[in-house]
Amino acid sequence: VNERVAAGGLLRAIPPMSELLVHPAVVQLAARTSYEYARERLRAAVDELRVELARGTVELGTGDLLDSILSRLACAPRRANLRRVVNATGVVLHTNLGRAPLSQRAVEAVARIAASYSNLEYDVEAGRRGSRDVHGEDLLCEVLGCEAAVVANNNAAAVMLVLNTLASGGEVPVSRGELVEIGGGFRIPEVLERSGCRLREVGTTNRTRISDYERAIGPDTRALLRVHPSNYRIIGFTGRPTRAELVALGRRTNLPVVEDLGSGCLVPLGAVGILDEPLCGDVVADGVDLVTFSGDKLLGGPQAGIVAGRRALVEAVRRNPLMRALRVDKMVYAALEATLLSYIEGRADEEVPAIRMLRLSAAVIEERATRLASSVDGRAGLRATVVRGSSVAGAGSAPASELETVLLAVAADWGGAERLASRLRDTDPPVIGRVEHDRVMLDLRTVEPADDGTVADALIRARPGD
Ligand SMILES: *Cc1c(COP(=O)(O)O)cnc(C)c1O
Repeated sequence: VNERVAAGGLLRAIPPMSELLVHPAVVQLAARTSYEYARERLRAAVDELRVELARGTVELGTGDLLDSILSRLACAPRRANLRRVVNATGVVLHTNLGRAPLSQRAVEAVARIAASYSNLEYDVEAGRRGSRDVHGEDLLCEVLGCEAAVVANNNAAAVMLVLNTLASGGEVPVSRGELVEIGGGFRIPEVLERSGCRLREVGTTNRTRISDYERAIGPDTRALLRVHPSNYRIIGFTGRPTRAELVALGRRTNLPVVEDLGSGCLVPLGAVGILDEPLCGDVVADGVDLVTFSGDKLLGGPQAGIVAGRRALVEAVRRNPLMRALRVDKMVYAALEATLLSYIEGRADEEVPAIRMLRLSAAVIEERATRLASSVDGRAGLRATVVRGSSVAGAGSAPASELETVLLAVAADWGGAERLASRLRDTDPPVIGRVEHDRVMLDLRTVEPADDGTVADALIRARPGD
């Protein structure tokens, strides 16, 4: 009780921001950088001190407070801003947590290529300058059965490149049911506009017919676009033309058919309950002229946008000057090619973490969750049990599919679930869970087994003062 009073007194004795901001050390920092930067650093230093005082992890007299703040301010930021976290949310492709973790094989390829010179833009055989936009192409053709492919920075870039290349200055009909917003600012109407094309809306929100596209085609039409509805579903009285109908219309009218697949699923995942994702290879086989999809969604590779399909169209995309601005780094090629090799060798289930996690059975997760629950239950003020729940693919992939899982459900006698979740985020590496029914729910589907111990440690150390 005494300590708390003391801590409370110290907290109240922290000088106000108005006073700190005019201290010569702060004024100097502001002159060297900017006022805003100095104010932010100061605020962070004060916040850090507050947290430590409240936890009782520092012992100071009221006279030491200013010095403590100034010395925190003087320390340069001590660690990189981008850090590893443990994803215990059960969202396999968590966009906020960096989407797909890379395979060991991809990580090794990145390290090898990044630390050395490479043939990034060099033709080793001929001994002269080569093209960089061809990396990944052979493997993509092998996996997808397409004529050609090129890699851009992400799928948003891939869609822009394709539309700008094929349809700039012209019109593109899109079904009203597919004018989606993916999140993070990707909205089909705006992407079309920024690509220099005019959107021609066809059909209605819930039903669009092939005749709607047919009627919309005119002298300015440059391409037909089909978009994966990604993160939402229209159910009930609905309809849209089949892919085959759209392809046939494209052939008849001499217009390229483009499909933005979003997720880019390469192997059937029906067995784990993901039924509504078309396979990229099937879409190419159906005759769509160009498909685009992400590298870090269901493919389980690095952030990238893949454009695949007919040779002449892919070549046109390559020649687009925008390609220079939207191209990828050598590390991305290295990671993507290594990931594709896992698929080609039929080893994606074991080697690609996203696929491996999606395929984990509830029974295997239950075994790990039960072991973890018994190792923390009754310790450090915790009650831990296991409960049934569901995981999701995430990143707009298969929003209607839920994967059966078993959650570790934890409550603490020293604080509510939000407080426990926040303390878990405060550990290093932060452990990210979710709060449901007044408990912290941790889904081990998205935790590497090697990190089960990290999660247990974080739980045990979560109690303030421990
Ligand atoms: C995710 C998604 C995008 C954007 O892909 P990024 O790789 O995040 O740029 C575009 N279209 C669809 C249909 C998507 O699902």
